[in-house]
Amino acid sequence: MALRRYTTFPAIASLYMWIRGPRRTMLALRLQRGIFVPNRFSNRLARQYNALYTMQRVARLFFPPDYSSFVSKFDTFLLDCDGSPFPFPHRTPLMFRTGVIWNADTLFPRVKETLSYLRSQGKQLIFVSNNSTKSRRAYAQKFENLGIPASEDEIFGSSYSAAIYLSRVRNFPANKKVYVLGERGIEEELKAEGINYVGGTDPNERIDFARTDYDALGPNPEIGAVLCGLDQHISYKKLSKALVYLRQSPEVLFLATNLDSTYPTHGNIFPGAGTTTTIPLEYASGRQATNCGKPSKAMMNAIFARYQLDRERTCIVGDRLDTDIQFGIDGNLGGTLLVLTGINQLEDCARQGIYPDYVTNAFGDFAVLQNGEY
Ligand SMILES: [Mg+2]
Repeated sequence: MALRRYTTFPAIASLYMWIRGPRRTMLALRLQRGIFVPNRFSNRLARQYNALYTMQRVARLFFPPDYSSFVSKFDTFLLDCDGSPFPFPHRTPLMFRTGVIWNADTLFPRVKETLSYLRSQGKQLIFVSNNSTKSRRAYAQKFENLGIPASEDEIFGSSYSAAIYLSRVRNFPANKKVYVLGERGIEEELKAEGINYVGGTDPNERIDFARTDYDALGPNPEIGAVLCGLDQHISYKKLSKALVYLRQSPEVLFLATNLDSTYPTHGNIFPGAGTTTTIPLEYASGRQATNCGKPSKAMMNAIFARYQLDRERTCIVGDRLDTDIQFGIDGNLGGTLLVLTGINQLEDCARQGIYPDYVTNAFGDFAVLQNGEY
């Protein structure tokens, strides 16, 4: 309190000297009646304090030796592949500043060099994504189109995460089926893990809801799980079926590939997986879905079930505090790196109370290590 009083007083005094006429009288009256709350000044002070605290807590990578000692601390990097929503256009004026590696189909500068440097140092790279519409195969195709060498084994999407969670964590029985609300990405991953499914891209599910469907829809003992992802052909029929299955028994698993509210792509924001399928079903059924995407523990467990990793020597690289960085903190990873080419800037750390271990301007900055001088 004392600090605030002493530092705001000169500011108010100088404002008082600067303002003339009736506005000065108004200010004097307000000060006298004690209703003048100098929010602007105390906010500035809070910002300065938060900035100092953040500087103390977060190591900023800036010079080449910083990058080289950072890289030497880790063997595995989990790289965020998702774009981020774009709520503050005045703060991030460049449309392409919405991720770590790319925005939609454009690579960020020097990312290719960074990836090849990390590979040359024998680092393991795992590309993590919440996008459920793409399978690993589809992602590998995207990497190939952009000229980045990446194998299917290095890609870990939320559809794959859900399939791994079902098969290796929950030991999903072979005689049961998963009812899918989503696109081909989910189907491909379930098929790869040998899990039976219905729904999904089946054209019979996309037709209008008929009067006879009220009688025709009923419980199906074959269904052992309902898996929700981003569905671009969502229909009343699909939601009705899913609700019937969720209500038939508490043993029917309720899974979501991710709970993203929005799907940012092509410079715009579209409804995400949570909005199209999961949240309506949670609301209708009163049940809560298990999230298999970032920042859930289920996804981290699935990653550790799939790869042999040393937690202490693993670092997540992301652009978003409440998904990527939180994911790393909850998963007890050895490090978290925030890149400032996406949704969050350094001042957001204090606002959200989430602090990464390291911060750098762009993922492409690591390319300075390429010539091997450091
Ligand atoms: Mg991201």
